[in-house]
Amino acid sequence: MKNVGSDNNIIDNQEDDQFIKDIASWAITFNIFHIALLALLVILRKYTHYLFPKDPRTLLKTPRHTAVIEMGLGQYCHFGLRNALEKMLDEYNKVLGRMPISLDIFINIDGLPIPKSSNSALWPILCSDTVLKSVFIVGAYYGQTKPQCNNDFLRHFVDEAILLINTELFYNGIKVKINFHGLICDAPARAFILSIKNHTGYNSCTRCTITGEYLDGRMCFPTTKIVDALRTDEDFANNKYDDFQTGETILKQIPNFGLVSSVVIDYMHLICLGVVKKLILLWVQGPRTVKLSQQLLNQISGVLLNLQNTKFMSHNLHTLLHICSDVQKYGPVDNFSAFRFENIKKMIRKNEKPLQQLSRRYSELNNFNMPIKKTIIKNNNEICFEKVHSNGPLIDDYNFSSEYKILRTKTYTIHSNSASNNCISLENGTVVSVLNLVKRSDNTKFIIGKKLKVVKDLYSDPVYPCTSKELGVQVMREDTAVCLWPCENIRNKMWKMPYDQNQFVVFPVIHT
Ligand SMILES: [Zn+2]
Repeated sequence: MKNVGSDNNIIDNQEDDQFIKDIASWAITFNIFHIALLALLVILRKYTHYLFPKDPRTLLKTPRHTAVIEMGLGQYCHFGLRNALEKMLDEYNKVLGRMPISLDIFINIDGLPIPKSSNSALWPILCSDTVLKSVFIVGAYYGQTKPQCNNDFLRHFVDEAILLINTELFYNGIKVKINFHGLICDAPARAFILSIKNHTGYNSCTRCTITGEYLDGRMCFPTTKIVDALRTDEDFANNKYDDFQTGETILKQIPNFGLVSSVVIDYMHLICLGVVKKLILLWVQGPRTVKLSQQLLNQISGVLLNLQNTKFMSHNLHTLLHICSDVQKYGPVDNFSAFRFENIKKMIRKNEKPLQQLSRRYSELNNFNMPIKKTIIKNNNEICFEKVHSNGPLIDDYNFSSEYKILRTKTYTIHSNSASNNCISLENGTVVSVLNLVKRSDNTKFIIGKKLKVVKDLYSDPVYPCTSKELGVQVMREDTAVCLWPCENIRNKMWKMPYDQNQFVVFPVIHT
């Protein structure tokens, strides 16, 4: 069929819509350059009857214009906090089928260098929530240097944040409470936006008032105990830290957002890129006292002790002492790390006009309802049963239409006849050994199994930072009674390891 499509012919009305939309989604998912997509469109127009547009920008609904504000020596583009949160709520609706009562929001601010472009940098303000963890853009600055004034840079975001907290967000007629849960930045960005001493300063710890020492050309904090007073949100808000705070930050104006306790210690920057890199460099290239030879590899723990109380206790190593309090507040380190925000870098394809590129790529994603980070959420509707059998066990007085051996989701599999692969936990915390999988005639799915009862914690010695129970790890024993639970109550898979005389150690498999 002759292709009669034109760029003015909006693809939404065509009966072959879905194929065209799928090609557009594919191009966005795999970050296909427009020039490559242009060539593909020529082929698709030539060899198929589908009414593909000629121009990739029409296919992807790419905006032709980006609204930017002149700011100091650079430009700023405000994508909008409300706009970001509404997209977040749309995603909630789509993925979870409901609206949340409240959203706990992480804000990420960082300066990204533009490759091959001397000092120029892009400073995005990003947001993400604690459940779906997709990333949305609030605003971005681009200039030959970092923004000249932290408060000018933050103004549009802060004004919207205050308004949203004070008036609450109404979306589709439903009230959603907004909480600013944490700020995630690397040390230089943190110093800039909070107006605090750089991490090379004597009083640069964001959590305590320890004073560093200048040893061998670097700032060190040669103690492994937090002997100095911890900083407080109140004292920060009242500018009490003369030797730490170098100016004002309008982030203070956001209600209930503590600028000590809510500025998280991010393990991507601190541990993965910071302390681990430093340790490896010291072990490989450092002075004789800390350098490892092949023969010394079994003495690593001794070398770790050498790092204490010396000039190698850098700002980052000292900050490790404070990360425990963040784990207590936010959970596992990945809950509050900067990793999820890294994909933003992939949206910049060339050096010129990064703000405009960001705006276009972001619009393309939004036009096809695709978040920056692809979300994998366990959805109980996706539970499949496989391998029919008729061996039981069943529960008296219940009618089931079929029995199965295997339960499969996108992320894990349960085998009802394998003791090492049949353990799950329910939303209420109950742990169950699954013995059978059954369906009723209305297709609702159930598990039949034995509840596991807690015998004791695997460890609770005060030498550890927490008990094993707090990590979901316990010694358990199977009950004798066989019971029934609906599959919609399943939370995640557990790993059950034989322990002692009919007892097991049970571990949560967290990636499920
Ligand atoms: Zn400290």
